[in-house]
Amino acid sequence: MRKAFEGLLETAEGLHTIHDNADKIGRHRGVPVAVPDRHGADPMSDACEGHDHDHGHDDGELDGPDSPLVRSLSPSPNHDARKEPSRLLIMHYTGMRDGMAALQRLCDPNPPRVSCHYVVFEDGEIVQCVAERRRAWHAGLGSWQGREDVNSRSIGIEIVNPGHEFGYRPFPEAQIEAVIALAQDIAARNAIPPAGVIGHSDTAPTRKQDPGEFFPWDRLAAAGLGLWVPPAPLEDGPSYRPGEEGPPVQALQALLAMAGYGIQVTGVYDVLTEAVVTAFQRHWRPARVDGVADASTLRTLRDLLAAR
Ligand SMILES: [Zn+2]
Repeated sequence: MRKAFEGLLETAEGLHTIHDNADKIGRHRGVPVAVPDRHGADPMSDACEGHDHDHGHDDGELDGPDSPLVRSLSPSPNHDARKEPSRLLIMHYTGMRDGMAALQRLCDPNPPRVSCHYVVFEDGEIVQCVAERRRAWHAGLGSWQGREDVNSRSIGIEIVNPGHEFGYRPFPEAQIEAVIALAQDIAARNAIPPAGVIGHSDTAPTRKQDPGEFFPWDRLAAAGLGLWVPPAPLEDGPSYRPGEEGPPVQALQALLAMAGYGIQVTGVYDVLTEAVVTAFQRHWRPARVDGVADASTLRTLRDLLAAR
């Protein structure tokens, strides 16, 4: 089962599968924003040194920061038109060896083309890459609350962390404080409800693990961002695991779908169910992330749905 899972992860396109961009690392994180005024900066199209930019997207230029918290701009050419307003805020980790390599990757016009609206470095510095009004290419294939094209209705924040592939580690305090302040600002300006703040792995559980089990969702919730209930303690009780089937598995799948996950109610604890349970645990019951729906996982899931 685990091998099949890794195969799925390996097919993922995008940022977290890109390695060895060290030779492309720029000297600067971006063009500094002298005054944190969203209308005050000059248009810039060459912030990512050493790359030719696709000028076919100039109607969506990043001509200034959307948030007063942005310290510099590093415009990415990888975006297009939104089909609807943002109602979700998606948290990612960069999953690369360092932040500069990730920023370079997010601005690279070569395929696979990826981007994100914001990057938050470990020291708390915030760089904007794509204007909020544009559809950045950060979430890829996935769904939430029964709908696909997550990019069209979301804003994405990439949080610098090597991730599970390169040495996943807790997020520094300065970085988390910056993420919370930025997320509060984005949510307020875009009318994103608390329930709309979620992780990339919530929208793409078979492909993604970010932002991972170290991400402090409880602290975000205390700041009005995301839904949270105290995780039920690990304890003995009925549990369900891969390979099982029957009405309890069907009920589990229905509850996970109600929470927002893209899951089929088949009654069979299949690879997708294991992936969704794992994603749920990373976000809401991080004490044990193993894809087994134990008593604590089930109780936390019920508590979360009751709290909505
Ligand atoms: Zn991600």
